[in-house]
Amino acid sequence: MKKIHFILCSCFILATAVIGEIAQTKLDNNQIIYQAQVPRKVIALTIDDGPHYKTTPEILEVLKAKQVKVTFFVLGINAEQSPALIAQEVRDGHEIGSHAYSHSSLPALTKKNIEEEFNKTEKIILSHAPQPVLFRPPGGMLNSKVIEVAEQKGYKVILWSIDPHDWQRPSTEKVVNFVLKEAKPGSIVLLHDGQYPLPTPQAIGTIIDALRKDGYEFVTVSELLQYKQEAYPSITSFKDFLNRY
Ligand SMILES: [Zn+2]
Repeated sequence: MKKIHFILCSCFILATAVIGEIAQTKLDNNQIIYQAQVPRKVIALTIDDGPHYKTTPEILEVLKAKQVKVTFFVLGINAEQSPALIAQEVRDGHEIGSHAYSHSSLPALTKKNIEEEFNKTEKIILSHAPQPVLFRPPGGMLNSKVIEVAEQKGYKVILWSIDPHDWQRPSTEKVVNFVLKEAKPGSIVLLHDGQYPLPTPQAIGTIIDALRKDGYEFVTVSELLQYKQEAYPSITSFKDFLNRY
């Protein structure tokens, strides 16, 4: 399962999948969020695919020491295996979003199966955390069916603006340098905790220290969207996201 998971997280898949789907979807209405225009230097770190019994505790320890809150997009199948870690994430003040259940390519599933992916994950999350309202599609793969289900179930779809490909296990330095180079107010950073080992626990600490030195504050995705709502009524659309590929 872990190997499949590893492959599916590819951003390359994301780029090809979303471009292929654009004609079928009505995406240019701010339903899909990948960054936010904000009035101050705030950034949201997001961590996908966990919890993992080794990587997640390492990340939680760093975040606690640095007093930073992030958004974990948990995978239902992993949450089921490590419920105590979801509970700890909540206790530590982090936000929990859904990353679906099995890391399948959701556009390839029937609507009924997509709903099942949402429902199973939501049920597991709800036994340890508040009602999730944020959803990150596995591999970033979307089509109109997936967006419709997310909307019906009351989820906002959250993508990202910075992807250092930490799941491919580059050096810690590469992950850090990529994030620091790309960081802007309102960025959403994509990181992972679903495999072991990863450079992520170490990289996160260095990223936090360096960006703080540069005047940034770290917020959860929901907090980022609050800043957005207070200052700017609209965010960059999904069409702009696609234009980058
Ligand atoms: Zn993932």
